[in-house]
Amino acid sequence: MVQNPGSPNSARSPNYTAAEARQAILGRLAPIGGWERVSVRSALGRVLAEDVIAPCNVPAHDNSAMDGYAVRHADLAAQGESVLTVVGTAFAGKPFSGIVGAGQAVRIMTGAPIPEGADTIVVQEVTRAAEGKVHIPAGQRAGQNLRRAGEDLALGGVALPAGKRCGPAELGLAASLGIAEVVVRRRLRVAFFSTGDELASIGKPLAPGEVYDSNRYTLFGALSRLGCDLIDMGVVRDDPQALETAFRDASANADVILTSGGVSVGEADFIRELVNRLGEVAFWKIDIKPGRPMAFGRVGDAWLFGLPGNPVAVLVTFYQFVQDALQALAGVSPLPEPSLFDVTCAERIRKQPGRREFMRGRLALVEGRQTVRLAGAQGSGVLRSMSEANCFIVLPEERGDVEAGETVQVQIFDGLV
Ligand code: AMP
Ligand code: MG
Repeated sequence: MVQNPGSPNSARSPNYTAAEARQAILGRLAPIGGWERVSVRSALGRVLAEDVIAPCNVPAHDNSAMDGYAVRHADLAAQGESVLTVVGTAFAGKPFSGIVGAGQAVRIMTGAPIPEGADTIVVQEVTRAAEGKVHIPAGQRAGQNLRRAGEDLALGGVALPAGKRCGPAELGLAASLGIAEVVVRRRLRVAFFSTGDELASIGKPLAPGEVYDSNRYTLFGALSRLGCDLIDMGVVRDDPQALETAFRDASANADVILTSGGVSVGEADFIRELVNRLGEVAFWKIDIKPGRPMAFGRVGDAWLFGLPGNPVAVLVTFYQFVQDALQALAGVSPLPEPSLFDVTCAERIRKQPGRREFMRGRLALVEGRQTVRLAGAQGSGVLRSMSEANCFIVLPEERGDVEAGETVQVQIFDGLV
């Protein structure tokens, strides 16, 4: 049993596995309210707030799946060739308006409506046409090569379910139904800031001991891709008054507050006192590497995710915990399954059993097999290897060293659609 993550003022930091932390977060979140009606193009990346119901059949008419001849199956002889008279042509945009009578055929193109009277399409390749006739071999199946009206989508059926995030296929599908507008959920508003006295903003020279604030840029990228409305609150010093003002502002304006830094031992105590006064926040140690410390809870009416400061840990915790949480808040349902798949590891990887490790990997085809190797130095501050990687190598808690040739699981960075 894990301790209730939301319990306020908890003195100890509970230890969670990655799975427990995910579950504890997702178990508390419900989608935000609010919706708007937008044009199909503007729906790209948005989450449908209601089912899209098909107002017509797709395809609208029975039509041909192939180029060939529309015939009456009853006219075809069981043995030998049948010879039919070609009485016209049906194009996709220009149907044949007559009726196919006994002994007749209509030349038909892919997508053209099936002419009245015909019930079967014979593909052109098996036929022979000469002098207004077409010769058709035996062995044609009744109803073959036909696409039925409503086969893709039936009138009145759910074409796209509420909770779906619209990608290219969804825009096309809505358009295929003649739908010009859809109802989508309001965008999630996310306020984010970096904490740390050592942080310098880009564009200024670095003073001794300073580092550029990179986390706000990685988070900007990750959040933008999810289609959030962003409130970039800059860098906040490790100062109680400045932090309190930032948390109050953020919670008044956003659904979610995302911070980086200030959650490690020592710093956490100081922020803990502050945010527990403004809401209820638990500091967790999650058994992962990188990214062990993380805060989760509420500040005022907003959800708070306090990510670690290390640049790679920010991305690991974001992708393992925050991304799906934001999806759930944005109304995405069902959440996509985490897509892990097995590949061969090309090199030895050292690992202590105990924590779930997310290594930066480079997946490539080697002699026809997907093979992964480490993408450079794995320190939690080394963003370069994050950029060179195309996947996480995910090594579960109990796993020890990986030998070259063993199977490991990877999580790919980019999806196709
Ligand atoms: P913290 O979690 O605040 O102790 O930070 C852990 C490490 O991450 C320290 O080396 C910080 O300097 C670094 N760090 C924290 N915030 C940022 C940031 N916004 N950009 C780059 N590095 C950061
Ligand atoms: Mg710090």
